Amino acid sequence: MRYNMGMKFSELAAYLQKLEKTSSRNEITQILADLFKKSTAGEIDKIVYLVLGELAPNYEGVVLNIAERMMLRIIAQAYDEDINKIKLLYKKEGDLGNVASDLASSGGINLAVGEVFEKLMEVADEGGEGSQERKVSKMAKLLGELAPLSARYVARIPVGKLRLGFSDMTILDALSYMTKGDKSARHEIESAFNVTVDIGKIAKRVKEKGLVGLSEVEPEAGTPIRASLCERLPSAEKILEKVGKTVYVEPKYDGFRAQVHIWHEGKEKKVRIFSRNLENTTAMFPDLVEAAKKIKVTSAIFDGEAIGYDPKTDKFLPFQETVQRKRKHGIEEAARNFPLRLYLFDILFKDGKSYLDMPFNQRRKTLEDALPKDGGVVELTRQNLVSDPDKIRDLIKKYLTEGLEGAVIKKIDAPYKAGARGYHWVKYKKHTDEGVADTIDCLVMGVNKGRGKRAGFGVGAFLVGIKSGGEFKTVSKIGTGLTDEQWRELAKRARKLEVTQKPKEYEVPKNLTPDIWTKPSLVVEILADEITKSPLHSAGLALRFPRLIRFRDEKNPDQVTTFVELEKLFEMQKVTS
Ligand code: ATP
Repeated sequence: MRYNMGMKFSELAAYLQKLEKTSSRNEITQILADLFKKSTAGEIDKIVYLVLGELAPNYEGVVLNIAERMMLRIIAQAYDEDINKIKLLYKKEGDLGNVASDLASSGGINLAVGEVFEKLMEVADEGGEGSQERKVSKMAKLLGELAPLSARYVARIPVGKLRLGFSDMTILDALSYMTKGDKSARHEIESAFNVTVDIGKIAKRVKEKGLVGLSEVEPEAGTPIRASLCERLPSAEKILEKVGKTVYVEPKYDGFRAQVHIWHEGKEKKVRIFSRNLENTTAMFPDLVEAAKKIKVTSAIFDGEAIGYDPKTDKFLPFQETVQRKRKHGIEEAARNFPLRLYLFDILFKDGKSYLDMPFNQRRKTLEDALPKDGGVVELTRQNLVSDPDKIRDLIKKYLTEGLEGAVIKKIDAPYKAGARGYHWVKYKKHTDEGVADTIDCLVMGVNKGRGKRAGFGVGAFLVGIKSGGEFKTVSKIGTGLTDEQWRELAKRARKLEVTQKPKEYEVPKNLTPDIWTKPSLVVEILADEITKSPLHSAGLALRFPRLIRFRDEKNPDQVTTFVELEKLFEMQKVTS
């Protein structure tokens, strides 16, 4: 019983109740800071995962695998009740946690947080034959040992219903409050989080060693690093002015980000691949895993882009085909139909050493030396050293004829800026020199039913917005520029997202109220001819001649273009015209 000295689960449950009762971000942060203050270094990581409704960082894939139906059986067994009674209670309550807390007895052993965590881990670890039954009995035993309030929250975790309305970012703020009493350490803590995205580990480090401990945080193979992102500039001239007199120009592959981690566990070589959003996508890409294993390193973290490639025609596949590889089923078949090439463009860690602070040209040299030169699945990203704007334009033309998206221009001696969008990388796409320098990622906020020909599609126009603080503000009502197929696809998707009332984070002028509201979920990439000032739209800016480029399934609503970014794009076009 290593943990029975630590915080009691009942105390954690009282905090969870307080968190549940408030929706004020500030209050949530204070409550969490107080909770973290009371936790010990030995348990704070577990507490962090638990308040997020998890047992480990997301990318570790530690899941309880207990569906609602199974949870009903667990509750019945825990409290020795008939399953039909439990079903009835659930129907009445609408929440499994409340059903459990209604039935739990107020006696019982007062387990420590660490003990509950360990028992939940045991359930998650169950696999193979008969594991379902073992999960049921272990979970039931655990619930039976908990007092009502504790039972309520433990019962919600497996079914993903802890829902306390905050994310990793609030935890970072709370850690700052815990150490400094205010937000002043947030930046420092976030910088460490950027390098190793295990929020539990960061919390533990702060608890053990204070803020100074964060300076020792280094990347670790297997734990994602937050991706570096590109800024935009209106022209090749501006790029040379801002990024450097001489820059590296690389093709911008239109596939998906792949952060590739390689390390050894004993004799076994391990590979993990993370997406732009740091989801663990390893299982989707057995071909890339195979190829990565051939790279001769003891450990390494590479940054790159995977793109579909047809070896017969020697051409890249368009994004719509590459994206077929992002799937959970039929992986082998998709790998045969849409083979990938993995273009690596950076190295962040090698043989136990961080390369993040090394200037890019030196990292590039290390990358070149590390990669096999056999022309297989893994390739080195092409690069040109350029100091002439015409040369940049020539290169981009060449890339576009090859079916690529444009270029990424990189500062020669910049460190790798984990989690940052900055002028160390600037993207330059087809449209950079004409009008709006980049496409705009918008949220679909609602749709209007179609009339005439569009009546058959189900949708005739849709309302899109960008992000401004915690709100979404409108920038366009789009009624043209979609193919018939895109209209149908939009209608299908919108149907699934329909909600009866305007989501509270939407700011929409009355006269733009759509026929159907859609909850914040669907992100679309929009190309516009111009951004104009607009009294009509709640963002105050509007998109002129918008066209749908694609549905951006890999982006979530948090990642749509922000008002600040849109304003920057607006200012940029004023400079060029
Ligand atoms: P976009 O809509 O342009 O893909 P984004 O917000 O996803 O935007 P950006 O920061 O604008 O990301 O562009 C960087 C993205 O471009 C990376 O996430 C990566 O997936 C892709 N990319 C393709 N080629 C390169 C390259 N040579 N260097 C860096 N990133 C590249």
